[in-house]
Amino acid sequence: MEQYIEQIVKEVLKEMNGGAPKSAAELGIFTDMETAIAQSAQAQRQVANLSMAEREKIIANIRKKTVENARKFAEMGVSETGMGNVPHKIAKHELLAAKTPGTEDITTAAFSGDNGLTLIEQGPFGVIGAITPCTNPSETVISNTIGMLAAGNTVVFNPHPAAIEVSNYAVRMLNQASVEVGGPENIAASTLKPTVESSGVLFKHPSVQLLAVTGGPGVVTAALKSGKRAIGAGAGNPSVLVDETADIKQAAVYIINGATFDNNLPCIAEKQVVAVDKIMDELMYYMEQNGCYKVNSVEIGKIVDTVLVKKDGCYGLNRDFVGKSAVEILRAIGVDSNARCIIFEGSSEHILVQEELMMPILGIVRAKSVDEGIKLAVELEHGNRHSVHMHSKNVDNLTRFGQAADTAIFVKNAPSYAALGFGGEGFCSFTIASRTGEGLTSARTFTKSRRCVMSDALCIR
Ligand code: NAD
Repeated sequence: MEQYIEQIVKEVLKEMNGGAPKSAAELGIFTDMETAIAQSAQAQRQVANLSMAEREKIIANIRKKTVENARKFAEMGVSETGMGNVPHKIAKHELLAAKTPGTEDITTAAFSGDNGLTLIEQGPFGVIGAITPCTNPSETVISNTIGMLAAGNTVVFNPHPAAIEVSNYAVRMLNQASVEVGGPENIAASTLKPTVESSGVLFKHPSVQLLAVTGGPGVVTAALKSGKRAIGAGAGNPSVLVDETADIKQAAVYIINGATFDNNLPCIAEKQVVAVDKIMDELMYYMEQNGCYKVNSVEIGKIVDTVLVKKDGCYGLNRDFVGKSAVEILRAIGVDSNARCIIFEGSSEHILVQEELMMPILGIVRAKSVDEGIKLAVELEHGNRHSVHMHSKNVDNLTRFGQAADTAIFVKNAPSYAALGFGGEGFCSFTIASRTGEGLTSARTFTKSRRCVMSDALCIR
């Protein structure tokens, strides 16, 4: 596997450099974090002096190259991490290329009146330190860079070690895109071997002015303790609630489409369902009609033993099964099926309902009423305040659930991926700052405010 990835990287580097292999460092990859940060700081001085039109020219080329390389990113991502699937990863790259906001997201507020003119402009922070996950590796690297660059920043990544090749391939492509249209090198930087120690250097370095952290609770907490301003995009465990007023057949299709997207890797994807008693059996019937495999109690036990590991009396994820398809999971328990998703009825305490599995397994919890459903669905989101979804035609129920969950994302009567701009309105982001409250990040998230005042200098006595 390692040799295969190495070979792909070599080929890609060769292609990107017109046949002549360049050293990795020339395209933003450095052997150590200190050098990456120093080079990024130097590049940032150049980026800050680019006009908006020049930044936009680089971003346009990034969008173009992302689409051209979408298949390569998707194949590298699946092959290196063993997670997700190629067609959906291609779609994610195409989506981010089209819908990640650029410089148009940076706006100036103006106040004019008897005493003159005041502008509130949005300026860059400088060098941003970014941590990226293995679940959407190149997607996060590219969409972060578009927004950060649009705002006049440069970025140093400490990517997930399990996705380092595809993440660094993205960093190289970003710099190539800049240089090709006359922009600076090192708009994005990374290291050859990121570690927890190298993220520590990023978290503490005086030249890094802002952190943008996308990942699980551990890394977001570490960044928030660093003493620097941090944008924290943490874990989700989205519940989807279905009440008796929903179009049940349609809800089943949408839930399965969302929950199987990239094998359930996205943090916004449906992770468990709460359905009111009245329509529960009908919902499960339509889910089975739409390619779900309903496991029996013996099979559920086997799935628990397969996709989870028990250490010191606590369950954790068996990483070998994160982002795998339902077919692969079922095969591992001896079931031959071409199902898209695995479903079962379970209590809200069931470990497969409680855990953020990131695989196409949906526990379905029966609620006596919509009130009980709201309570259970909120509890199962575990206070992440990240995402919930609901299928209902009752506006009061939708409003009550939205208010109770208080999440950064609430999708109604659609698959979860509508929140990313997929078949839904609005821009795309792969960094959803649930922990720190910015919500879906975009260029303006990576700016600081500057108030410029021109007045008639009225004296105050
Ligand atoms: P992860 O937390 O294992 O890793 C994320 C990154 O943090 C990696 O680069 C990893 O090397 C680093 N890291 C982990 N612990 C660290 C520590 N203590 N100090 C410094 N660095 C550390 O997450 P993952 O498995 O790559 O991704 C899945 C998780 O991320 C899920 O919980 C998912 O919900 C979440 N996620 C959130 C968003 C969002 O936008 N909110 C997006 C994608 C993924």
